[in-house]
Amino acid sequence: MTSPRTITVLGSTGSIGTQTVDILSRHGERYVVNFLTCNTRVDDLAEQVRRIRPRGVAIREEWAWKRFRELCPDFTGPVLLGEEGLCEAAAHADNDVVMSAMVGFSGVVPTMAAIRAGHVIGLANKETLVSAGDIMTAAARAYGATLIAVDSEHSAILQCMVGERRADIETFIITASGGPFRSYDMESLHGVTAAQALRHPNWSMGAKITIDSATLMNKGFEVIEARWLFDLPSSRIDVVVHPQSIIHSMVQFIDGSVKAQMGIPTMLVPIQYALTYPAREPLDIPRMDLASIGALTFESADRERFPCLQLAYDVLDEGGSAACIANAANEVAVAAFLDGRIGFMDIPACISTTLHHMERLAHPSLDDIVATDAAARRYATEHCSRLQHR
Ligand code: NDP
Ligand code: MG
Repeated sequence: MTSPRTITVLGSTGSIGTQTVDILSRHGERYVVNFLTCNTRVDDLAEQVRRIRPRGVAIREEWAWKRFRELCPDFTGPVLLGEEGLCEAAAHADNDVVMSAMVGFSGVVPTMAAIRAGHVIGLANKETLVSAGDIMTAAARAYGATLIAVDSEHSAILQCMVGERRADIETFIITASGGPFRSYDMESLHGVTAAQALRHPNWSMGAKITIDSATLMNKGFEVIEARWLFDLPSSRIDVVVHPQSIIHSMVQFIDGSVKAQMGIPTMLVPIQYALTYPAREPLDIPRMDLASIGALTFESADRERFPCLQLAYDVLDEGGSAACIANAANEVAVAAFLDGRIGFMDIPACISTTLHHMERLAHPSLDDIVATDAAARRYATEHCSRLQHR
């Protein structure tokens, strides 16, 4: 038997985080839990602490950090605070694997801390690669860190590439469920509400990515993520809508052969695969039953009704700080949509307007990216409040 692996989970209270904790608790003998971290949901964190006994925790907000002390007065491990605390947990020398499962741009600096420590990183936090893919992947090479895909599509691509030569890969075909509004016409899309958008047909996820799935921004971000994780140009990354979410993505090779990775839609498989890669471990989940699924269908993705997908290709091809601006504007617009302050189609409009307004940097540093994110957020926030008061 191999020795247990020491894991830190950044964002352990979220959708990916709790499923990672589930995997860790199913196979307690295989893992040592180093740090668990959250932003404010310390009640959930305290429950995880009692259940899987991490060595330490890190909490972003100070009031929540104080509350954790009240909830767990007997916890003797380190209770770290703020972004600095998250970075300390991410870079901790004992980590064998860091699961990066914070949401949005908030994951950039802690994920970079794990990269600079040369760790193996299970990367769920795709906005990190969207905002700073060039910088993150260059740093991973420089510090000897390994980024392992957690996103189901990228895990599928990784699994399809096992045993293949890089030079034999022609294209990636990323599948998309199409989200809850796949068959809506443009007029209906203008009127959809946050409650409707939060009802994803196949996946239960955090609120932000659920809205990104409805606009297809998530799929666009996944194209950018694939470009950086696997170093393939956007011209060789295609998207196809596959409403059943059984094929998680495909790789086409130079001889026209296509490999697909399949399974029921669950994040437990890609999460566990990232923790055990390149090995596999048993996993007790329902098995795929193709006869009861009946048919697997495919259609092309409509970039007119879902302009966010086209915007993602555009900012990827432009390079520099463009994708960081689009990501920041999207985060602001999604939050405003969830609050009922703007409409669904205002999300792509906010991203386009912010991109149009903001100056670009061709070769940004990490500090430039942090400043660009803040400036784009300010612009997008003003834009959303103008829309709200029209
Ligand atoms: P959730 O919103 O469910 O969870 C986010 C986690 O990050 C929580 O632990 C949250 O803490 C923490 N967090 C949020 N903001 C901050 C902050 N400012 N500082 C520190 N911690 C913070 O998100 P998901 O789990 O859905 O998504 C996580 C990432 O994984 C995203 O990048 C998403 O795109 C990606 N992903 C998710 C999938 C899914 O199935 N959910 C599938 C594929 C990718 P708290 O609980 O205290 O708020
Ligand atoms: Mg995905």
